[in-house]
Amino acid sequence: MLDTTITEALAAQMRGNVLTPNDQGYDEARALHNGMIDRKPAMIAQCTGTADVITCVNFARDNGLPIRVKAGAHGVAGKAVSDDCLLIDLAEMNGVLVDPELKTAQVQAGARLGDLDHETQKFGLAVPSGTDSRTGVAGLTLGGGYGHLARRFGLTVDNLLAADVVTADGSLVRASENDNPDLFWALRGGGGNFGVVTSFEFRLHEVGPEILTAQSFHLFDDAREVLQFYRDFVADAPKEIFCVCLVLRVPPMPPFPEEHHGKIAVGLVANDSRSEATEENTPLRKVASFGNPILSAVMPMQFTALQSNFDAGFPKGARYYWKSHYLSDLSDEAIDTILAHTEPFPGEFTAFDFEAMDGAISEVDQAATAFAHRNARFGLGIFGGWADESRDAEVIDWARRFHEAMEPFSTGGGYVNYLPVDAGDEFKESYGANFERLREIKQRYDPHGLFDAHQRIGIS
Ligand SMILES: Cc1cc2nc3c(=O)[nH]c(=O)nc-3n(C[C@H](O)[C@H](O)[C@H](O)COP(=O)(O)OP(=O)(O)OC[C@H]3O[C@@H](n4cnc5c(N)ncnc54)[C@H](O)[C@@H]3O)c2cc1C
Repeated sequence: MLDTTITEALAAQMRGNVLTPNDQGYDEARALHNGMIDRKPAMIAQCTGTADVITCVNFARDNGLPIRVKAGAHGVAGKAVSDDCLLIDLAEMNGVLVDPELKTAQVQAGARLGDLDHETQKFGLAVPSGTDSRTGVAGLTLGGGYGHLARRFGLTVDNLLAADVVTADGSLVRASENDNPDLFWALRGGGGNFGVVTSFEFRLHEVGPEILTAQSFHLFDDAREVLQFYRDFVADAPKEIFCVCLVLRVPPMPPFPEEHHGKIAVGLVANDSRSEATEENTPLRKVASFGNPILSAVMPMQFTALQSNFDAGFPKGARYYWKSHYLSDLSDEAIDTILAHTEPFPGEFTAFDFEAMDGAISEVDQAATAFAHRNARFGLGIFGGWADESRDAEVIDWARRFHEAMEPFSTGGGYVNYLPVDAGDEFKESYGANFERLREIKQRYDPHGLFDAHQRIGIS
C-alpha cells in the first residue's frame, strides 16, 4: 500500500477521483471484462480530461510508479491493469462530438462503441468499428478494429483522421497525416505502446439508422457445406455485403428453436449496408436460403441493434482465453482441420469465427498503416469462454490445440486485439513485418519504456 501522502499529492492535482484499495468503487474500477484478471493497482485515477491524464503520466514517471491505461476494459490479454500500478482510468472521458456537415466525429478515449454509435446514428452516420457495443473505442482502434462494415469501409484505423496523445514526457502530441505522421502510422495497429491517446477523430459514413441484415444458423453436422458456402459467397459478394461466420452453441433463448439449444451450430450473420438494398434485390437472400437452417431470416434492423447483437454471448466477468490466426484461404484442407478440432468445444461462452479480410481492407496498402495483415483472406478468432475456474485448463488446452492445428494455414501472427493473457512473443509476431519500424518509432516517443507493458514493443 502506498503512503497516503503520495495519494493525496496526486489527488490534489486532479479533477477526477483517485481511488485506493479501501475506497468504494475501487473493485469496480479495476475489474476487466475478462474475469481471469484480478489485479490490484496502487491507485486508480479516474481522469475527467486531458489535463488529468498529463498529471498522471508526469506523476507516475516522477514517482517511479508503473503506468497502466484502461479504456473499455475489453482487452482479453488484461494489459490494462497490473498490481501496484497507477491505473489511468479513462472511463469517464466518454464524450463524442459529431460534425454532420464535415462527417467527422471527435471521440474521447474512454468512449465505448455503443457511445459512438449512439451519437453518430442520430445523423445516419457511422464509424466502422467492432461487433460488441461495450468494447472500448481506444483499445479496438489501436489494434485495428474489425466489424460489420469492414468490407465496405475498411478497418477502424482506415477511418482514423487524427489522434491526440500524451507521450512519456507529458507532452500532448497531435498525430495525423500532416502532424507526426510516423506516430500516426504507428497508432493505426501498433497498440498503446506510444503514450496515452486522449481523443480520436474519425471519418464518418452514411449508414443506417436501419440496415438490411441476414442471418442463418445450421447444425454442426452441416458445418463443411456452410464453411464452403461462406468462403464462396464472400468471394463473389460486392464489398458492400458483409458476412461473418461463427461457430457457437445455440443460445438458450428465442428465436432459436428449443430443441437445438446448447448444440454446436454454424451461423452466418450478414448485412447489406447500401441504402438502396431491399429484401428483393439483395445478395443476402442467398445466405438465408442456403442449406437446411434451423433459423434464417432476411430483415431490416436498427444499425445500433446489429452492433449490440453479440453482446449477450460474451458476458462480463466470465473467463476468456482467445487465440487468433490470419489465414491465406479457407481451403477444403483447412476446413477439414477445423472440423477435426472443433469438438469437444468446451466452455459455455466458447465460439470461433471467420472474418473476411478482403474488400476495402485489402485495398489499403500493406505498408500504409501498422496493421500488418492486409494480405490475408480471413481472420480466425478462437474465443474460449467459460464461467467456472475449475475448467481453466480444459478450455485453454482446447484453444491452444486448435490454434496449433491451424498453424499450417496461417500467414503468420494473429490479431493483437485477440491475444490471450499469456501472450508473449505472439505480440511481436502479430506486428509482423512492421515490428522493427514500430520499435524505432517507440524509441522516439517512449525512449525509457514507460508504456512497455501495453502490448508489448519492449524498449527497456
Ligand atoms: C466481448 C468482446 C468482443 C470484441 N469484439 C471485437 C470486434 O468485434 N472487433 C474487434 O476488432 N475487436 C473486438 N474485440 C477485441 C477488442 O478490440 C480488444 O479487446 C480491445 O483491446 C479492447 O479495447 P478496450 O479499450 O475495451 O480495452 P482495454 O482493456 O481498456 O485496453 C486494451 C489495451 O489498450 C490499451 N489502451 C486502452 N486505451 C488506451 C489509450 N487511450 N491509450 C493507449 N493505450 C490504451 C490498454 O492499456 C490495453 O493494453 C472484442 C473483445 C471482447 C472482449
